[in-house]
Amino acid sequence: TSCEEPVDLSIVIKDTISDFKEVHPEFDFDIYLNSATKIWIRFEHLKQLLIILIDNAIKYAKEDKGRIEIYYDGIELKIKDYGIGIAEEKIPYIFDRFYRVDEARSQSNNNFGLGLAIAKRICSYYGYEISVESIINEYTIFTIIFEKRTEK
Ligand code: ATP
Repeated sequence: TSCEEPVDLSIVIKDTISDFKEVHPEFDFDIYLNSATKIWIRFEHLKQLLIILIDNAIKYAKEDKGRIEIYYDGIELKIKDYGIGIAEEKIPYIFDRFYRVDEARSQSNNNFGLGLAIAKRICSYYGYEISVESIINEYTIFTIIFEKRTEK
């Protein structure tokens, strides 16, 4: 099996967000959790997923402040930001290794375009799905479905 026991999402979120808040106190986090917060994944992997997605929400904000929303309904985890968004035609590529939408902006931040490729790898390892919806200049939502796809 991929992991021995489920981890408590609410604990991993608290843990991760307190790290970000120290460095980025100008960002607010709104967290909406279902009562069932146990997820079948290794603690380090869940933490890594949250770090990648929250780090992006902060990096691609419109200003040096903002609000990040995290939802979990018992199956789907959603991380929503109100930043620069991603153009529809770029969306198919953002999970590719070394892909960055805006080379200039990303380069200056020392980004390699690996975060989402790693996130996708972690999800695939467990059979979980990660996807994105976005409207340019309005919002970006990353969704992870923590439910195994039916295996053949
Ligand atoms: P790093 O390797 O440091 O994560 P990166 O942020 O460039 O670098 P990814 O995390 O893989 O790489 O993201 C790929 C691209 O997708 C980014 O360059 C950015 O253009 C776009 N992107 C990712 N998350 C968001 C977001 N929340 N809002 C807007 N654009 C995003």
